[in-house]
Amino acid sequence: MASFQGKRVSGKWAVVLRWAEKQGVRFSLTSGQRTMADQWRLYRVFQSGGNLAAFPSPLAPHIRKGFSNHALDVNSLDGGETRLERWVESKGVDWKNTVPGESWHGEISRAGLNKLYKMAKKAMADPLKGYRADEKRWIREYDDLNRLKKRTAKQSTRRNALRRAMAKRRKGIWRAAERRKGAWDKYRRRDRYRSLRARS
Ligand SMILES: [Zn+2]
Repeated sequence: MASFQGKRVSGKWAVVLRWAEKQGVRFSLTSGQRTMADQWRLYRVFQSGGNLAAFPSPLAPHIRKGFSNHALDVNSLDGGETRLERWVESKGVDWKNTVPGESWHGEISRAGLNKLYKMAKKAMADPLKGYRADEKRWIREYDDLNRLKKRTAKQSTRRNALRRAMAKRRKGIWRAAERRKGAWDKYRRRDRYRSLRARS
């Protein structure tokens, strides 16, 4: 079982919510996926004063046993629920407040969650996976330096040193890849070569 902001959520929701957070959406999750025991506890707590918790059943919105798209409760007083809802809808997925009077309670369809999950996986995949550790470091540092509007002399020197290191590695990859048939397709040589070539 995965968690997000310390709350239990399905693995797919965890990935999607992490992506939302990474994209700068501010919200706080108050409740995610519940077990039957959690639901019974809430049901009993709320029984005295107008029941705010659904009757415990495997299909209750926050349980949805066997499915990933359980309901989420997101704090709505600070605007977080609206921000998350808008973000979900900006990705082409419907967010529904299915319980009248509970502006914090949102649900999306199974297909909707699958769609968001796929988008999140793609967006957050490490494009440098399989690259050598030093290549990752060079590329990231170089890109950081390149984003600066103005570089100090020291930063320019460093940038040049990185270019030299990457050029040298790129030539090494080229030699290794040209040595025999099919060698370009091993160890991500083609991608590594291209990434380094673009920066040196
Ligand atoms: Zn709820």
